[in-house]
Amino acid sequence: MSAQLLEGKIIAAQIKQDLRQEVRSLKQKSGRSPRLVSIQIGENPASAVYIKSQKKTAQGLGIEYTLETLELDISQKTLTRLIEGLNHDETVSGIIVQLPLPKAIDHRLTMSSIAPEKDAEGMHPENLGRVLLGNAKLAPCTAQAAMQLIESTGITLYGKEAVIVGHSEIVGKPLSMLLLNKFVTTTVCHIATGERGNLAEHVKRAEILVVAVGKAELVKGDWIKEGAIVIDVGINRVEGKLVGDVEFEAARERASFITPVPGGVGPLTVTMLMRNVVEAFRMQEKL
Ligand code: NAD
Repeated sequence: MSAQLLEGKIIAAQIKQDLRQEVRSLKQKSGRSPRLVSIQIGENPASAVYIKSQKKTAQGLGIEYTLETLELDISQKTLTRLIEGLNHDETVSGIIVQLPLPKAIDHRLTMSSIAPEKDAEGMHPENLGRVLLGNAKLAPCTAQAAMQLIESTGITLYGKEAVIVGHSEIVGKPLSMLLLNKFVTTTVCHIATGERGNLAEHVKRAEILVVAVGKAELVKGDWIKEGAIVIDVGINRVEGKLVGDVEFEAARERASFITPVPGGVGPLTVTMLMRNVVEAFRMQEKL
């Protein structure tokens, strides 16, 4: 059996259609459009691709997008002051800080300096805490994207066995909470699982498998449980081509649903960012 492709683009198009209407109606009520301010520190070809895609998606939805490019040698203090200014600026609905950050800038400190209600990436400790408590308004975008893809299959989540490979703060950890909140039995694997040689054993049990590591084809096709849903978050460049963390062709023969790379999680992540901005605007305008 060849798995059905979970194409993020198609699901994203449906969500964007709803968001476009929502932005229009919020604008009628408030007289203003949501605005996302994107902070880039130094120039970087990888983040340039994301910024271009964010700008295009925002504009297509009626969300204003402003890019602030800062000098590479900016201090944490100056950055915090700038973010605090944006926190108090009523025309700003959401703030995103592009990665990578220079060594002198601390990611956690930076996320904490953003007002929780303007935290477009859902990475402020208060918003992460709300993910844990199950009442998040702004959750991390990639974790939300993975969740959307899983839910798009129409599967009953209650009691299912999920395995997440990767325990980063942007994907694995928050996603494990989103799944737990739906009563999914959730195992989180990471580097130590791999080093101990236990990764295959866990993956083989997964009815829902999410892999977010950043190592090309780390997960072998014959580890996939028959009928599993496979969400491949990884993006790796191999010989000029983008591939995921799962051996796609072999996994496709065993899974029931699988995301392609590219075209799976990526297009939904930027859509979730925009959904957070609209939600942030709604909260600030009390609409
Ligand atoms: P990260 O480097 O922060 O975390 C990697 C995780 O993988 C860690 O938990 C680590 O312990 C684990 N790991 C490393 N080697 C392992 C091994 N051999 N066995 C098991 N676990 C292992 O990465 P991240 O920021 O979460 O990103 C992961 C991947 O997802 C990257 O390829 C990144 O480009 C991609 N990504 C894609 C999107 C998207 O929208 N499609 C968004 C974010 C990240």
